[in-house]
Amino acid sequence: MRVLVVEDEVKLASLIRKALKEDGLLADVAIRGEDALWMATSSPYDVVVLDVNLPGIDGFETCRRLRAQGVRTPILMLTARDAVEDRITGLDTGADDYMLKPFDFGELFARIRALSRRGPVERGTVIEVGDLTLDTGSHVVSRGNVDIPLSVKELQLLEVFMRHPGRVLSRYDLLEHAWDGGYENRSNVVDVYVRYLREKIDRPFGVESIETVRGAGYRLRPVASAIKSNGRA
Ligand code: CA
Repeated sequence: MRVLVVEDEVKLASLIRKALKEDGLLADVAIRGEDALWMATSSPYDVVVLDVNLPGIDGFETCRRLRAQGVRTPILMLTARDAVEDRITGLDTGADDYMLKPFDFGELFARIRALSRRGPVERGTVIEVGDLTLDTGSHVVSRGNVDIPLSVKELQLLEVFMRHPGRVLSRYDLLEHAWDGGYENRSNVVDVYVRYLREKIDRPFGVESIETVRGAGYRLRPVASAIKSNGRA
C-alpha cells in the first residue's frame, strides 16, 4: 500500500512517513499542494493524507483540484482547527475523512487502512430505474437516450423516488427527504411536484412510472419507454 502524505511541517511529515514504513506501508511526502497534484496524478496511491494548512494552494484547493483532475484516491484531511466549517468544506471539496491535529498515530493508521479498503471513490453514481437514469454527480437525468432537464427541487424529489424503487413513499416521506424543514404538513407541495415530474419524465414518453397509491402516497415503478437506446422511438 502506498500513501501520499502532503504536509509542510517537515518534522511531522517525516515522522508520519517513518511510522507508516514501520507499519509496512510505503509513503511519499509532498511539502506543497502543487507537488501533491502532479505526484497524485502521475502515480497511483491508495490513500492521500492531506494537511489543510499548506503554503501556496491550501489543502481544500488541493483536494478540489485533485478531484477535478479525476483522481479518485480516498483523501484523509488533517486540520489543526476543530471547526465544523472546516470539516464541511473538506467534505464538500471531495475529502473522504477528516482528522484533527494533534492526532494519535494508531488512529491515523486505522483510518488510512479503512480508506484503502474502501478503494477509489465513486464520484457520482448512476441510479437506474427501468430506462430512467439519474447521475448523482452530473445531475443528468435521462430516459432511454433522451436527457430531461429538471429543476433542483424536481431532481431532489426524483432522487428520493429512484433510491427507493417500487416502494410506496408517503407524502411525509417525500417531504422529509426532498425538502428542508419548514414545510411541515404542506403535503400538497409534494403533489404539485409529482405532477411536474410526471410531465417531464413520463408523459412525453408515454409511460406512467410514478404511480398514485390511494391513501398511501406514491410509488416509482421501473418502466421502459418505447424510446430505444439509439434515441429514436
Ligand atoms: Ca501544515
